[in-house]
Amino acid sequence: LPTATIEALQPADVTALIPRPTQDAHKYTRGVVGIRAGSSSYPGAGLLSVAGAATGLAGMVRYVGDQAVADRVREAHPEVVGEGRVQAWVVGSGGGEEAGDHLRAALTDGVSTLVDADALAHLTTTDHEHAPLVLTPHAGELSAMTGAPRAEIESAPLRHARAAAERYRAVVLLKGRHTLVAHPDGRVRVTTTGTPWLATAGAGDVLGGVIGALLAAGLDAFDAASVGSWLHGAAATLASGGGPITAGDVAPAVPRVVADLLT
Ligand code: AMP
Ligand code: MG
Repeated sequence: LPTATIEALQPADVTALIPRPTQDAHKYTRGVVGIRAGSSSYPGAGLLSVAGAATGLAGMVRYVGDQAVADRVREAHPEVVGEGRVQAWVVGSGGGEEAGDHLRAALTDGVSTLVDADALAHLTTTDHEHAPLVLTPHAGELSAMTGAPRAEIESAPLRHARAAAERYRAVVLLKGRHTLVAHPDGRVRVTTTGTPWLATAGAGDVLGGVIGALLAAGLDAFDAASVGSWLHGAAATLASGGGPITAGDVAPAVPRVVADLLT
């Protein structure tokens, strides 16, 4: 790989990349994102992924998964609908034993797919042939994928994120203190927004939903991952106000962050 030039998106870059509805937009032209996350054991991951996706960046959110989770999703987000055509899938958070099946089903559609958490272990190095992929591991999940020790990834995250992007021919977003987004061509973006208060259960599930919505709205995998990570961090900082937050606080702050950028 060539020497990495690490870019940091500036607010003006993010503003330019935010998908905006045209005057004659309808919900389908704005993109439909599908969520295959959560399970009877981990219903919250499904709810939080949906919350991240249902922030208005795409035209419609579909949820496909466990019936009990689907019932709770519908209660929390009445605008979310069931199975049908999508322009992007979000797969894996809290998926448990169903994560592998959800990954295969999503890849069959051939649309951009974000792969997180439990689904990462089921990914193969040829899956990029089905669809553009965004992988969102933390260091422990990347360690399970590549065999590199977790401590080694944490001490050299740039090298490991780039190597994984090249190996899987996918955009790899390596989460942590400094979230890095690596493109298989060697480019890297670092997320400059966020707060250590984001180190809380479920924060990554919200991130997956936000990025999925941007993929559905038409951003390419590299832009969707880096813009989504920027918005997620900014929303966390806004919700935090310097104090503690839970993952559920992050998604409701996303529309305000976007409005502040656009006005
Ligand atoms: P996950 O590990 O899937 O729950 O995702 C955790 C989320 O919190 C990711 O978006 C991380 O980038 C973010 N995060 C975790 N730890 C920190 C930290 N120390 N500083 C800033 N962000 C963090
Ligand atoms: Mg996670």
